[in-house]
Amino acid sequence: MELSFLFNDPAAIQLASERIEADACQFSLSKKFRFYYRFLRPVMPIKIRQWLQKSQPHEVDEQWYLPLSLMDQILQCCNGPNSPKPSEFWPDSAKYSFVLTHDVETAEGMQHISRIADAEQALGFRSSWNLVPYKYKIDNGLVRDLRSRGFEIGIHGYNHDGQLYSSKRVFNKRVSAINQAIDQYNAVGFRSPMVHRNLSWLQDLKIEYDSSCFDIDPFQAAPGGVGMIWPFVAGKFIELPYTMPQDHTLFIKLGEQSDRIWRDKLNYLRKHQGMAMMLTHPDYLTGRRETEIYLNFLEYVRDTGDYWHATPQDVSQWWRQRDQLSSIASPQQTEIDPIKT
Ligand SMILES: [Zn+2]
Repeated sequence: MELSFLFNDPAAIQLASERIEADACQFSLSKKFRFYYRFLRPVMPIKIRQWLQKSQPHEVDEQWYLPLSLMDQILQCCNGPNSPKPSEFWPDSAKYSFVLTHDVETAEGMQHISRIADAEQALGFRSSWNLVPYKYKIDNGLVRDLRSRGFEIGIHGYNHDGQLYSSKRVFNKRVSAINQAIDQYNAVGFRSPMVHRNLSWLQDLKIEYDSSCFDIDPFQAAPGGVGMIWPFVAGKFIELPYTMPQDHTLFIKLGEQSDRIWRDKLNYLRKHQGMAMMLTHPDYLTGRRETEIYLNFLEYVRDTGDYWHATPQDVSQWWRQRDQLSSIASPQQTEIDPIKT
């Protein structure tokens, strides 16, 4: 699988490729997790699951949400005169891109979509909603309404049972049904449930982008991360790693009472012209406090005003264009004018 990056420094390319290979190209479920997803999770009430997640010890650095180790090395490699300038990263010379995504876990989550979408729209934002095609009833009227208002629909796995990657055989068996759902909902993007990931297997999906990777996240069942804050080309599609800690991690696992971690991460992403991609769930933005924190954060972002706001599909199309332009430019001609969109 061919990988292609924002940077063209050979040492940086090697570092990034090795990390992606280790984090996102070899994944299959361990025995322990196969047992958990097959036998325990289906019968475990959600409250017990959340209590277990909360009560597990979290031994992480204070700045667990910053991908410092790989980013520092890549930035060191890439400060030469031929490295892309910040103005080439995003349209309109924006300092960073700001992307909102939601995974809709349950039928109850579907009920909360309109309320959140309305609030986002009132603030001038649009987001993508990743739906599970074979788990709950999807409201087609709502899907049409969202799309007509500029929101995007993506596909979130098969039935969200945690077993999509239990073996290549299981994955292969589900591929055609997932591709059917991609057609049915006119989707171009995918995110795996529980952000399990194997970019090599995902090549079989009919997608423009995948968003199952993340830059860093020690709180997932499959922790780690690709260590980078920009999209990259992964074979047939563009990979868009989410870079902002999930609402579930902040509010449920860590009991955060504010958006301080989101603000801190946003500053980091802005400093390095990254992609600030949020991943929240209508299933967890149900309480007043969580919704307020989320919307206050959006307001804070809106007031900074130096971002390019886009849906994941927009970002993947932009990234494809800039990747094609970079590959036809010689190393001496890497100063590409930003394309106005
Ligand atoms: Zn999910």
